[in-house]
Amino acid sequence: MSAEAAPRLKKPVDYEVTVTEVKMETRDTATLFLDFGEAPVEYKAGQFLNIDPHQFRALTPLAAFLQAQKGRRELFRSYSMCSAPHEPRVAITVKDEEFIPGITQYPALLAPLLVHGRLTGARIRVQGFMGPYVFPDDVEQRTEHIVHIVAGSGAVPNFALLKHALHRGLKMRHTFLCSNKTWADVLFREALEALEAAYPDKVRLVHTLTRETDESRFGPKVHKGRVSQALLEELIPDRQTCLVYACGPAISPWERRKAMETRTPATPRFMETVLGHLHTLGIDDKRIKRETYG
Ligand SMILES: Cc1cc2nc3c(=O)[nH]c(=O)nc-3n(C[C@H](O)[C@H](O)[C@H](O)COP(=O)(O)OP(=O)(O)OC[C@H]3O[C@@H](n4cnc5c(N)ncnc54)[C@H](O)[C@@H]3O)c2cc1C
Repeated sequence: MSAEAAPRLKKPVDYEVTVTEVKMETRDTATLFLDFGEAPVEYKAGQFLNIDPHQFRALTPLAAFLQAQKGRRELFRSYSMCSAPHEPRVAITVKDEEFIPGITQYPALLAPLLVHGRLTGARIRVQGFMGPYVFPDDVEQRTEHIVHIVAGSGAVPNFALLKHALHRGLKMRHTFLCSNKTWADVLFREALEALEAAYPDKVRLVHTLTRETDESRFGPKVHKGRVSQALLEELIPDRQTCLVYACGPAISPWERRKAMETRTPATPRFMETVLGHLHTLGIDDKRIKRETYG
C-alpha cells in the first residue's frame, strides 16, 4: 500500500456461499462464481476475501504435512474479486500453483482444489470483504490517468477496478498493461479487448509476453519480454499526475529469509522491478498503489 490515506475498513464478515459455476479462464486459472444467498454483500472494486483451507476435508492430509514441514499452522488464503460491485454475480479468479521439483519447495495447498476440484454446487465458507487496493473516493480529483500494471493473476483486482470506473462513468482514462508468460496465459483477454473497443478514448490495452514463441503475436500493442522502463516511459507521459495500480508477484517472506541467511540478495520479482522503473521515472511513491501476491 502506498502512503495515501487508507479508506475506513469494515470488519470482515463470515459467509457461507455456494459455488454456482467454475469457469476455466486459461489452462491453470479459473473463475469461481459465488452465491451469497440473502446475505447483504457490500464490497469495493479491488477488494479481496479470505478462504480457510482447513474447511476442506480433502486437504486435511496435505495441510497436516505442510504444517509439520513449515512448523506453523497454514493460514487463510486471500482472493481478489474479479467482479465489480455493480455486477450481479460475485466472483473470484484463482490461478493454480504448479509444483516444480527442485524449484518450488512445497506443493501448493488451496489453489489446486479451487481451480480443479470441481467445486460447482459446493458450500464453502469465506470471510469478506477487505483490502485497501481500491480507488480513493476523490479519485477523479486526484488524476486523469490510471495506469494498471499487472502480472498473471495480478490482473484480477485491476479488472474489477477498470469495470467499476467505466460503469460509474468516472472520467479518468486507463492504460492497462498486462505481463504474462504467453498469449494463452492472458487473463480476461477478450473482456478487456471488448472494453477497449467500447471505450476507445478511455482504455488502452498493452501486453508484454516473456515466453511467447509465436513471433506473429508481437506488434505495437504486444511486446516481447518483461515490463521495461522504456515501455513505461512511453505509456506514462503524465508522471506527476498519474495514479498507478500495480499488482503481481513480489519477493516472498521465505525468499527474503533465505536471502538473509545466505547473505545473497533475493532476486527481484515483478513488483520490485516495476517499482524500480517507476521510481527511476520520477513517479512519487505516493502515486503508486500496490498489491503483492506471493
Ligand atoms: C491480498 C491478496 C490477494 C490475492 N488475490 C489472488 C487472486 O485474486 N487470485 C489468485 O490466484 N491468487 C491470489 N492471491 C494469492 C493467494 O492468496 C494464494 O497465495 C495462492 O492461491 C497460493 O495459495 P496455495 O494455498 O495454493 O499455495 P501455497 O501453499 O501458499 O504455496 C504457494 C507457493 O509458495 C511456496 N511456499 C509456501 N510456503 C512456503 C514456505 N514456508 N517456504 C517456502 N516456500 C513456500 C510453495 O512451495 C508454493 O510454490 C492473493 C494474495 C493476497 C495476499
